Amino acid sequence: MDDVIIVGGGIIGASTAYFLSKEGRKVKVIERDPSYKKASFPLSLGGFRRQFFQKENILLGKFAREFIFQIPDLLKTEKNPNPTASMVPNGYLLMFGLEHAEEQYRALENHKACEAGTKNIKGTELSKVFPYINNQGIETATYTDNKIEGWIDPFMFHNAFKSKAKELGAEFIKGDVKSISEIKAKVIISAAGCWTNELLKDVPVFPQKHTVFRVKCPKHYPEMPLTGDLTTGVYWRPEGKEYLAGSPISKWNCEDLEPEWNDFEELVWPALAKRIPAFEELKLTGGWAGYYDTNKLDNNAIVGKHPAYENVYLATGFTGRGLMQSPGIGRGLTELITTGSYQTIDLSCFGIERVLNKQERVEPYVL
Ligand SMILES: Cc1cc2nc3c(=O)[nH]c(=O)nc-3n(C[C@H](O)[C@H](O)[C@H](O)COP(=O)(O)OP(=O)(O)OC[C@H]3O[C@@H](n4cnc5c(N)ncnc54)[C@H](O)[C@@H]3O)c2cc1C
Repeated sequence: MDDVIIVGGGIIGASTAYFLSKEGRKVKVIERDPSYKKASFPLSLGGFRRQFFQKENILLGKFAREFIFQIPDLLKTEKNPNPTASMVPNGYLLMFGLEHAEEQYRALENHKACEAGTKNIKGTELSKVFPYINNQGIETATYTDNKIEGWIDPFMFHNAFKSKAKELGAEFIKGDVKSISEIKAKVIISAAGCWTNELLKDVPVFPQKHTVFRVKCPKHYPEMPLTGDLTTGVYWRPEGKEYLAGSPISKWNCEDLEPEWNDFEELVWPALAKRIPAFEELKLTGGWAGYYDTNKLDNNAIVGKHPAYENVYLATGFTGRGLMQSPGIGRGLTELITTGSYQTIDLSCFGIERVLNKQERVEPYVL
């Protein structure tokens, strides 16, 4: 019988394969599309942040930064002695209107308790730090400027995890798992992303289509952080000499991954131009859409052992933050499987029991 089989070779599957292989476990990863055409991770924006409401999400964000900075050491292999995820540590800036301010002040208490190292300013003072931003309607804003948040190249990150896991003995196999019951292994891990519900019918995680636009602007701000305007839900960041901007409008039940082009003209561009007057001169140069692995109950991760099975674990429902949470989730699952409990960040709050009991644990900051 196999030791560990992971269903899904995306970023969560690859990270978990790496951490388990490091502990000497014999891991096989089954992936139905090794080109990862529709998988979430290559279509993501690559952001890593610690600006969340819940302490566990803040701590996972802190570990992401720690891990990403150590990629050259931790993930180097004989074939690839200089791995990189092309990190841009420009920070994050999240801006809140009056309706979200109280909640953000409570989030800041959690930031402080977790030593997140974030800074907060009043909306009226925003232009002292970010002179190109129009602060109209912004009550409060939180940001980082000391290389503790930013973004990476998701495909390079995945490749580094996968290569290292393979060097440590993990096998990546092409295959489409139709049912959990067809797998025979001591430990089975479902890392099937937004398709998890096809395998585990009691897990309410489904594909939710999100569109990202690529735009050009005569004025370039290379130092700009990944910026989220919570008054509109629009978020953006520099990408080389251009920018990427995410639409807050999402869609269920979409077979196709055609971007929702109309959203740009109707919502995203006006929101961008209102917040950064120089963006009035934007030109749309491209775009794409990808699926969030959205947990319909509470927008939060579902991680741990499934109580209905002897040997089935799962990790899913990251709702737009699975790339940055992948190091902490891979490490946490490995601790749970090899020692029976979490040893570093306690992830028990993400257990599936809350979902089966319909006890919401909402993480409000979905971008
Ligand atoms: C537009 C967009 C922007 C995003 N921005 C960010 C961001 O800035 N930061 C961040 O942290 N996250 C972001 N995300 C979210 C992030 O991409 C996901 O949370 C993350 O990729 C989830 O990882 P995963 O490994 O669970 O799923 P995936 O990356 O989708 O991998 C799952 C894999 O499982 C395989 N699979 C599924 N079912 C089976 C089966 N039955 N048999 C075999 N193989 C199977 C699939 O083919 C797939 O390759 C974004 C996502 C999108 C779409």
